[in-house]
Amino acid sequence: MASEVVNRDHHVVIVGGGFDGLATAQGLGNAPGIRVTLVDRRNHHLFQPLLYQVATAVLSPGEVAQPIRSILRKHRRTTVLLGEVRAVDPAGRTVTLTGGGELAYDTLVIATGATHSYFGHPEWAKFAPGLKTLDDARRIRRSVLQAFEDAERALSEEERRRCLTFAIIGGGPTGVEMAGAIAGLARQALVGEFRNIRPEEARVLLIEAGPRILAPFPETLSSYAERALARLGVTVMTGRPVENIDADGVTAAGEVISAATVIWGAGVQASPAGRWLGVETDRAGRVRVEPDLAVEGLAHVYVLGDASLLAGEDRRPLPGLAQVAQQQGEYLGRALRGQILRAETPPPFKFRNRGNLAVIGRKAAVVQWDSVQLKGFPAFAFWAVAHVYLLVGFQNRLIVSLRWLWAYLTKRRGSRIIPESSS
Ligand SMILES: Cc1cc2nc3c(=O)[nH]c(=O)nc-3n(C[C@H](O)[C@H](O)[C@H](O)COP(=O)(O)OP(=O)(O)OC[C@H]3O[C@@H](n4cnc5c(N)ncnc54)[C@H](O)[C@@H]3O)c2cc1C
Repeated sequence: MASEVVNRDHHVVIVGGGFDGLATAQGLGNAPGIRVTLVDRRNHHLFQPLLYQVATAVLSPGEVAQPIRSILRKHRRTTVLLGEVRAVDPAGRTVTLTGGGELAYDTLVIATGATHSYFGHPEWAKFAPGLKTLDDARRIRRSVLQAFEDAERALSEEERRRCLTFAIIGGGPTGVEMAGAIAGLARQALVGEFRNIRPEEARVLLIEAGPRILAPFPETLSSYAERALARLGVTVMTGRPVENIDADGVTAAGEVISAATVIWGAGVQASPAGRWLGVETDRAGRVRVEPDLAVEGLAHVYVLGDASLLAGEDRRPLPGLAQVAQQQGEYLGRALRGQILRAETPPPFKFRNRGNLAVIGRKAAVVQWDSVQLKGFPAFAFWAVAHVYLLVGFQNRLIVSLRWLWAYLTKRRGSRIIPESSS
């Protein structure tokens, strides 16, 4: 990290208001001598770990998102701009926004996250939406709820079966959570509401190319998750690489599966920060950073969160997790403050693993924290408390807790309206 002491206000431009961008801005706080501009193409910070609950009608969009402007309202030296960055000039120290406008920076923090990767098949995106934004969640919720409506009025058994088949691609935490939540919707929340179909007969397929689901977890927890999904009525299909996705459904390991709803949870690609900066990236597009999160060879530029590549203590790349992004943001806020105001050299960033969590359904989840492994209800309770705690804003915490309590006691879903528009 380069050291410098300046007399005028030092301008830090942060691109991205995810966990890391926001934590950096909060860390810089109201420090005199530092001026912060946070640019995001969305007006809200999104709590992605609960997005699947919006997609499966448990929560409403507003309950997992908060306006960035409102979160940072007490940081009087921070300006929030709604805009999309499209280029960076590291030599001239400027950032260019889509539609015109430039921002000059002294220090640049890029926290732009990642998006879906369809493994060289962008044409699949049309038929198999991924889950990354509120629009994605709304789109998936609409198609899941619509599939049951279409099945109710289907003219043939074949069409009914197609409408009631849900294929989720990718057996990571997102795929597992989606599959469990759709099965819960079909087998609990919708039961008794239709006259021509039995929603509980819906086929929910979780298709994974690798030999087991939840690969980052120990094998015992993976097999517990598989059994818990089977109890919910999910068919787990491992060792099945997807070969094609089109309007009719999915082809996996040579088998053609007719499905009206296909959801993508398999691959991610980092945002184009590497291209903007003209630096090398790994295959997933992540920018390699130094232990202080600075980009090698570029003065005053930092990349963090899902857009960055940094090895942990075990020499393996840190995973694309909210806790990594959050801790990096907190670290960088502190580090930049010390460096800009007191010319301090910060210690290297150290990730503290606070545990891997995945929820499968009502009363079923898995937690791994160092040598501690939890499953079943204790893991479910841990997951619920941790997620309420991590949500931004007291109001959202309260509403989400009440929603969950109601859903837990009644097995109903509170957000099942299909809007008339396409949103
Ligand atoms: C469905 C889902 C479930 C998940 N579940 C978990 C979980 O249970 N536990 C866990 O630890 N992690 C989970 N994750 C991963 C976690 O959400 C990410 O690791 C984390 O959000 C990364 O933070 P980030 O700030 O790097 O990226 P993001 O949160 O994606 O934030 C990036 C921000 O940058 C903005 N942006 C991007 N490009 C531009 C641009 N050109 N100009 C301006 N702004 C831009 C975006 O609008 C966004 O606000 C999940 C992710 C998903 C998608």
